[in-house]
Amino acid sequence: MIDAHCHLNYPGYENDFNEVVKRAEKKGVEKIVNVGTDLKTSRKAVELAKNNANFYAVVGIHPHDANSVEDGWEKEIEKLLNEEKVIGIGEIGLDYFAHNDVDSKIQKKIFEKQLQIAIKKRMPLQIHSRRAASDIIDILSSYRKELPDIPGMFHCMSGNLDYLKKVLNLGFYVGFDGNITYKGIAPGEDTPLRDLVEYSPLERLITETDAPWLTPVPHRGSRNEPSYVIITAEFIAGIKGVSFDKINSVTTENAGKIFNI
Ligand SMILES: [Zn+2]
Ligand SMILES: [Zn+2]
Repeated sequence: MIDAHCHLNYPGYENDFNEVVKRAEKKGVEKIVNVGTDLKTSRKAVELAKNNANFYAVVGIHPHDANSVEDGWEKEIEKLLNEEKVIGIGEIGLDYFAHNDVDSKIQKKIFEKQLQIAIKKRMPLQIHSRRAASDIIDILSSYRKELPDIPGMFHCMSGNLDYLKKVLNLGFYVGFDGNITYKGIAPGEDTPLRDLVEYSPLERLITETDAPWLTPVPHRGSRNEPSYVIITAEFIAGIKGVSFDKINSVTTENAGKIFNI
């Protein structure tokens, strides 16, 4: 089992980091990918990968942080991509949901610069996209030929089925988190996440937690952690009508194909 997208590089795990890692190992989570959202958290993700055997890092600038990047950030990201166990560039993309007040022009500029870095370094992507379906598809389509054959994954997939189809047609894999266990539809969305899981082919599915957020039921309301990825995987197995072992093996294999781990 893999947690292909989490943030143990964030504050909030200092006091019980070792226990969090042990609980994940005990539950059978063999690989943990920590993802940066700015330079500081990207550096921290790389450091964690260096110090922990089953950890990997993805580095990049999140659309929320697109207007606060330091000068020379592109060079720094490129440098981090050269480090061992850095397997991709992310989380990058567009976020037009109400809580993000970064101008869409700035978001697009930072996103495209990182796509160019991904092309130059032959690195797969972890995409964060919220309420930005048509822009993200347009931009990724225009770079598709230059991106790696397997271009990467959309993390925390949301949106409608038409959008999901376009994402899959571009060759991307799709990650689902603990919020698939929530009842109802999230604010700003029109399609239950369950429907997206149902439509996504097994050979494109990825498991992730986005810890510390999106904690699955029955732990909703408390801090999320990689061991809970098992709950999400069990939920996916229920939706797909296959065994947990099948989800376990296919998602681990899928992540291996994208990130070469
Ligand atoms: Zn995200
Ligand atoms: Zn995230």
